[in-house]
Amino acid sequence: MRKIFNIFSKALACVLSGILLCGCGASGSVLCQSMDTAMGTVVAQTIFCPDEESGEEASDAIIELLNQLERQELSWRLETSEVFAVNGAAGSGDGFLLSKEMTLVINECLRLSEESEGAFDVTLGSVTRLWNIDSWAAGGVTEGFVPPDRELLIKTLGDSGSSKLRLEPEVRGDNGETVQARIFLTEGMQLDLGAVGKGIALDLILDSLGSSEVNGAVVSVGGSVLTYGRKPNGAAWKVGIRDPLNPSENIGMLLLEGQWCVSTSGDYERYVEVDGVRYHHILDPATGMPADSGVRSVTILSKEGLLSDALSTACFVLGVEKGMALADRCGAEALFVTAEGETVMTEGMEEYYWSE
Ligand code: ADP
Ligand code: MG
Repeated sequence: MRKIFNIFSKALACVLSGILLCGCGASGSVLCQSMDTAMGTVVAQTIFCPDEESGEEASDAIIELLNQLERQELSWRLETSEVFAVNGAAGSGDGFLLSKEMTLVINECLRLSEESEGAFDVTLGSVTRLWNIDSWAAGGVTEGFVPPDRELLIKTLGDSGSSKLRLEPEVRGDNGETVQARIFLTEGMQLDLGAVGKGIALDLILDSLGSSEVNGAVVSVGGSVLTYGRKPNGAAWKVGIRDPLNPSENIGMLLLEGQWCVSTSGDYERYVEVDGVRYHHILDPATGMPADSGVRSVTILSKEGLLSDALSTACFVLGVEKGMALADRCGAEALFVTAEGETVMTEGMEEYYWSE
């Protein structure tokens, strides 16, 4: 599904070109905006380019890259993906030889799992499937949802856990570093990279923008946003932070220059409500239940996509105190909105945060 708004095209140009030409004159930049669906979420792009053609080219390349990432690597549903193959080999003595790209991703995920004391865990696939999270409609209305049976949940949780996952180096580089590893999931364990997929996407988009003619861009893939380069008028990029208590409004925004990744995890987008109880999609690996750490949303600011996405999930599970410490250890900034509606952030985040 795709909608492109190019300000120099057709009728829109009549309405907008005046405004944009003012911005464009000095720098010769053209603004291309588009809205697509990819990786099961909305992808919004604002791209400043030397001309219309290069803008559309860059924007098409980004969508193709996201579709490819989903199809070839991350999807647990599509038989064509690497995660699907890894999951299919769970419990087998041979394991599965990961690609170089996936070796890097899984290594980093295991590191962050350890760093977060297990709050972030990509081996929760069997548990997230019990909750049937993928079927939950946006907005919290899902007919006939029943929370998983307690005993089954505990058993399934017992089959999961990054500490039980084995990664054996198979190809090493000149300096002894692991280039490719073989992964061994135990019986009943399944990978779910849902908590880092959009962040990985941002890292790839960044690479593709680097070799394009794009001068500046803001690309949002669901709750993860990438800023890149400059606006023609030199102004900062504005990334809004939703109010989890009133998701149609922003509580404030981040004013950013150059390259940044901003990821938000919250309990307000994907959830179901049964008998007045809200079940959301970020699980506490200690219990297998939706995390209940007293926060409604966490926003992470970092230079790296995977890191920001993983940390937003981990910090949501950990809550304010432990989450702040984790962000700090990882060199990222964090902003929490608590259940009481209070906003708490790291000192470094204050530099970028603006609110009325
Ligand atoms: P979103 O996908 O809405 O951006 P997150 O990045 O926080 O939100 O990822 C949540 C997804 O990650 C869930 O839908 C589930 O598939 C998976 N998940 C849930 N809890 C955890 C966890 N503690 N660690 C790792 N992955 C998780
Ligand atoms: Mg995340």
